[in-house]
Amino acid sequence: MGWKFRKKKKDIPGGVWLKCQGCNTMLTRKKVEEVLGTCPECGFHFKIDGRRRVDQLLDEGSFEEFGSDVAPVDHLQFFDKEPYTEKLKKTQDKTGLSEAATVGRGRLDGRDIVFGALDFSFMGGSMGVVVGERITLAAEVAREEQRALLLVATSGGARMHEGALSLMQMAKTSVALGRLGEAGIPYISVLADPCTGGVIASFAALGDIILAEPGALIGFAGPRVIATTIRTKLPEGFQRAEFLLEHGFIDRIVPRTRLRQEISCCLRYCTPGVRSAEPQPEPAGEPGS
Ligand SMILES: [Zn+2]
Repeated sequence: MGWKFRKKKKDIPGGVWLKCQGCNTMLTRKKVEEVLGTCPECGFHFKIDGRRRVDQLLDEGSFEEFGSDVAPVDHLQFFDKEPYTEKLKKTQDKTGLSEAATVGRGRLDGRDIVFGALDFSFMGGSMGVVVGERITLAAEVAREEQRALLLVATSGGARMHEGALSLMQMAKTSVALGRLGEAGIPYISVLADPCTGGVIASFAALGDIILAEPGALIGFAGPRVIATTIRTKLPEGFQRAEFLLEHGFIDRIVPRTRLRQEISCCLRYCTPGVRSAEPQPEPAGEPGS
């Protein structure tokens, strides 16, 4: 099984040319793609989809999706500007994704892992029942098969269309990760811009190692909500990855161009007992060789 995309989705804004949201430079898509969806001038990180994450992080052709049969259900018959079921259908058609999370088995630098990524283009990467279930599945497979778990999270938070059912996913994913931790299997969490609400209040914040992309907005409630609620001027750079690194919430900020390499290094350090497809060193040959 591979990716089940009906069509390719481009998160990076369309056309041959695009304008960097960081430095306003006009860039060709090719130049941006060459540096994995970042700005070659200022290092701004564009949002990228789960498919690109797979291409950038995993060994070529190693990804095998699972949990794609877990499909969304409109338990509450939620009606916003349109019925939730219609919104889901439209989003699925637009993005070519079945839901906001994709999970599966894969390899990174020869190491077997379980990988998952959220897609911000699918209803803001929001966590409803399906996202919660797929992340939980990922943690369970990682535990059963003793593979390290790697999740890339970007999300606006819990999916309000699913009410309390979406909030339950916070507890569910946390329990699954707790069990993974008890089994001694490492979990690396990568936070991409933005990573907020119920996702950062649950599985995204529970990594044994938490990495973040530069400039990523990371927090529970947004800065504007906090500033209005407590009527205080917030410090500069509040809730950005750099601020959170300074305050000990994350372990390291890693530019996307170095992410695979750094994760590989983390895996090497923390998975001595975890199954690896890497060739084992040759047993010593002749004495003295
Ligand atoms: Zn730029």
